Amino acid sequence: MRTIGILGGMSWESSIEYERIINEAVRERLGGVHSADLLIRSYDFDQIETLQAAGNWEAAGQLLADDAARLEEAGADVIVLATNTMHKVARQIEDVTRIPFIHIADATADAVKAEGIQAVALLGTRYTMEQDFYRGRLTAHGLEVLVPGAGDRTFVHDVIFNELVQGRIVEESKQRYLEIIARLQERGAEGVIAGCTEIELLVTPDDVDLPYFPTARIHAMAAVDFALQ
Ligand code: GLU
Repeated sequence: MRTIGILGGMSWESSIEYERIINEAVRERLGGVHSADLLIRSYDFDQIETLQAAGNWEAAGQLLADDAARLEEAGADVIVLATNTMHKVARQIEDVTRIPFIHIADATADAVKAEGIQAVALLGTRYTMEQDFYRGRLTAHGLEVLVPGAGDRTFVHDVIFNELVQGRIVEESKQRYLEIIARLQERGAEGVIAGCTEIELLVTPDDVDLPYFPTARIHAMAAVDFALQ
């Protein structure tokens, strides 16, 4: 089994799910007392969020790249960056490592296309919904990406930072997310990407009528496939 290096803690509310999903899948596939071979670097999210808010992506990328190199040196065979947003600096990580990097948007786009979906809604942080590093990556896979209107984007973003990464699951916010998803469906979305790794803690596939793509689970399972290949 290959060793999976995880850059996590962004936030730990979702990276703990990566660890659980990966370990459960390895146990299911290998049986007995098997569990995943993991190296985890988990940050104080306050440090990362401060850099994001200041627009200091270069410094954030440097931090992640340095640690990705350390994970490689420590024996990781693959790097998994357990957040959609920080894929904005994926290139900096890929530049300093020789091992594969599983891009969360590629894994997600593959899952969307496997369902035969072309027009897909994207929910995530403001950075993910609005910037090209993520939307453009999905578009390059041939997908049409729909994001909520400005007011709804603000709401989706604020719930992530003010509630989900702080471990708060609020029913009222879930209902507003479902209303936002309904509006995107009216605009033609055939599926929904939970493009922030904490959103699937709030809205589960059972809550949504459309095919639903939880990025933490999809990404974690891609890592398992690589580790057990
Ligand atoms: N985990 C989130 C994501 O998938 C948001 C936290 C962050 O900004 O890194 O985008």
